[in-house]
Amino acid sequence: MLSKNIAQAIEIVASFSGNRVPVDLMLICKELDIKVIDDKQLDKDGYLICRNGKKIIFVNSLIRNRHRRNFIIAHELGHFLLHRDQLYSCDAISESTTQFVNNALQEKEANAFASELLVPHDELIKHLPIGPIDFSTVFKIAEAFDVSVTHAAMQAVQASNAESEILICYDKQRRKWYATADRYVFSSMVPFQCPVYLPSAEPQMDITGAWNKLYHGTVHQEIFCPYGNQYLVLLSGNRL
Ligand SMILES: [Zn+2]
Repeated sequence: MLSKNIAQAIEIVASFSGNRVPVDLMLICKELDIKVIDDKQLDKDGYLICRNGKKIIFVNSLIRNRHRRNFIIAHELGHFLLHRDQLYSCDAISESTTQFVNNALQEKEANAFASELLVPHDELIKHLPIGPIDFSTVFKIAEAFDVSVTHAAMQAVQASNAESEILICYDKQRRKWYATADRYVFSSMVPFQCPVYLPSAEPQMDITGAWNKLYHGTVHQEIFCPYGNQYLVLLSGNRL
């Protein structure tokens, strides 16, 4: 559920960009008279400067991943529409918009705005199956909305009809964050240390035993490695 101020900010953008997906960020920036500078090396991921009539979004040129760059622009647009009249310097901007990530309130709001702008909930639900979500669905969503697989997976799982999926991001074997639509999953139940050795795990299999604190019996487990040592583990089955 979006907070009122974020919903209003989205409405402002939709009034001139429509509900088209993928969203045209450059058009939005142009309409808001915001200049985007993305060819300078910065010590942060991005900045919003909104001063003396100048409105500029800076994106660190060292960040090459297009989806991450788009998320940073959308995040700074969020600061502009929600918080403006200040200077924002943002670091470690993450597409992790789950409530299980610790961030300052304004950073959380900017992320929530970015997420809704790039993957509008009303459009997303048209792509969701009645049953559990798997990565083949996630890949289609990522393509339709032109966002990263990580972002698509996170949004899809949180909006799932089945509500039995848990998406966990592990860095090497250590938990970074998790996302779920199930209100009864608590942090202490989701293993900090992945019980499955990820580098050699099958990308897709049904297993029993590894996720006993979360599921009863067989668990459908899918693993996707977006880059480096990051692994997304998507689980579905009968929740305890
Ligand atoms: Zn920020």
